[in-house]
Amino acid sequence: MTPIERLQTSLTSLGLKAVEARLENLLEQAAKKEPGYAEFLDELLGCEVDARRTRYLRARLQLAHFPFVKTFEQFDFGFQPSIDEKQIRELRTLRFVHEASNVILLGPPGVGKTHLSVALAEAAIQSGFGAYFMTAHDLVTDLGRAYREGRLDRRMRVYLAPKVLIIDEMGYLPLDDLGATIFFQLVSARYERGSIILTSNKSYGDWGSIFGDPIIATAILDRLLHHSTTINIRGESYRLKDRRKAGLFPRTEEEARAAPFPSSDTLQNGPRRQGSAAPRKTGAPLTAPGRSGDGS
Ligand code: ADP
Ligand code: MG
Repeated sequence: MTPIERLQTSLTSLGLKAVEARLENLLEQAAKKEPGYAEFLDELLGCEVDARRTRYLRARLQLAHFPFVKTFEQFDFGFQPSIDEKQIRELRTLRFVHEASNVILLGPPGVGKTHLSVALAEAAIQSGFGAYFMTAHDLVTDLGRAYREGRLDRRMRVYLAPKVLIIDEMGYLPLDDLGATIFFQLVSARYERGSIILTSNKSYGDWGSIFGDPIIATAILDRLLHHSTTINIRGESYRLKDRRKAGLFPRTEEEARAAPFPSSDTLQNGPRRQGSAAPRKTGAPLTAPGRSGDGS
């Protein structure tokens, strides 16, 4: 066996696939550049470390279940002047993930809420955090099924484990009693433990209609907003941009003003606490403020 053959066998048995694949190339370069011993070893192992990191990130991205992978670089902030770029810069430091605080993106369809959520979660993944994406509707349907099958606690772990959970499209469909209660439990369980990035087309004032009950809506908002950043996007749909250019959707001043998202401080700071939210009942399955707790 030649030294190269022995080396190859060792690389195989150690599972150093990236070095193995690039061995000839690495040796050729070394013969040309004549690096020091340490430098050569560094390059050799660095190549394996890089490949593993890439594999690991790819796996994490797949696990995250994003509808698409979009980054901040792909976002045209010029198109959405209502977004405070300073706020985005702060979020990109990922301090919110370390602090387990939440990010809520509000705005009409097509303004980039999902894009920015995914970009934030992608950045979190790049920094080694786990992330998971789910629409509010799918999440509540999934947990509702788990509840009926008596395995809610186990299933809930899927949504509690990742440091970042995106809940997309909150409010497109109203939740029934079970859905609202399950949602309350999830938000309570993640409170101060893991970040939620939530998108909604409804302003906070309309959340009562999502949950069909202002008391549970207040209790959910109370926990969700205690440590949170709200990004309120008031622009027009990016999807319609090109069609508008073609003159298919003439844009009027009135239309621009009709965006249902108030720019007031309430949206930046969340609603005032109205009275006290009912005491937390994290331990008790399927109870929520204002509900009898029978879970039916
Ligand atoms: P929303 O979730 O608010 O309905 P999306 O994030 O799904 O909107 O955006 C719709 C599409 O338009 C996506 O493909 C997204 O990448 C793109 N998009 C939206 N806003 C922008 C923007 N400002 N710059 C670049 N692409 C954008
Ligand atoms: Mg969306």
